[in-house]
Amino acid sequence: MKFCCPRCRREQEIIGDTKPKCLICDVSMVQATNSYKGLWMSPRFVISRMKLLIEKYGYQDATTNGRFKKEREAWTSGMYALGLSEMQNREWWVEIETVEQTPDTRLHYMDQSSGRNCIQTQSIEIVDWEEHVDDPTKVIKQKCQRAYPPHFCLLMLARNGKNLDVELLTQEVLRHKVPFGEIWITGCLAEGLMTMARIVPNAFRFDFETARSLEKLKEQGDIMQKLKRGTSTEAQELGFVYLPLP
Ligand SMILES: [Zn+2]
Repeated sequence: MKFCCPRCRREQEIIGDTKPKCLICDVSMVQATNSYKGLWMSPRFVISRMKLLIEKYGYQDATTNGRFKKEREAWTSGMYALGLSEMQNREWWVEIETVEQTPDTRLHYMDQSSGRNCIQTQSIEIVDWEEHVDDPTKVIKQKCQRAYPPHFCLLMLARNGKNLDVELLTQEVLRHKVPFGEIWITGCLAEGLMTMARIVPNAFRFDFETARSLEKLKEQGDIMQKLKRGTSTEAQELGFVYLPLP
């Protein structure tokens, strides 16, 4: 079984000991969690996880290999969640869907405006706008041919650095039937500068600096888990969770 020291982050494969201690730090090591199921991860966590994946496997493999689809979708959702957090001044979390085919991810925040905790969730379907495709409406139209619940949001990652006329794109897309409640396109404008453009229901654009937005969220923990206590909904911050890289 794989374990990790929560202090020095040393990883070790340990057999025959279910409660090992770190030989260097003398603290209990944490056993690996092998599924994303039910975990709410902060934008910071999923964004830095992609960075670690690139360090481990190289840019090409990490950003194209089908093995890492979930991590890439988490990154795309994390960037979008980071932008939403910046725009709305609240803490959004990313959950990867591990059982159903759709949505790819869910974003959550805790709404306390009514005086009690109420979880707000956005279901996200992710699609990549690949470099070799000139017209993003082709990608969107293709996704729009399938049926989705009306609260679903389509999030498109622009991987090609092309300029967008958001107004024009909105007009073009809305000429056809759209099964999504919202459609967003996100992409990198320059090193450390992200943009997110909403195409549906109406045109809107928001740019943000990744480092600055992450800095504002530095108090947000890494991982939360939803608790089911009768009818009340709460989410609890987990301590150190050891999620080994794939
Ligand atoms: Zn240690």
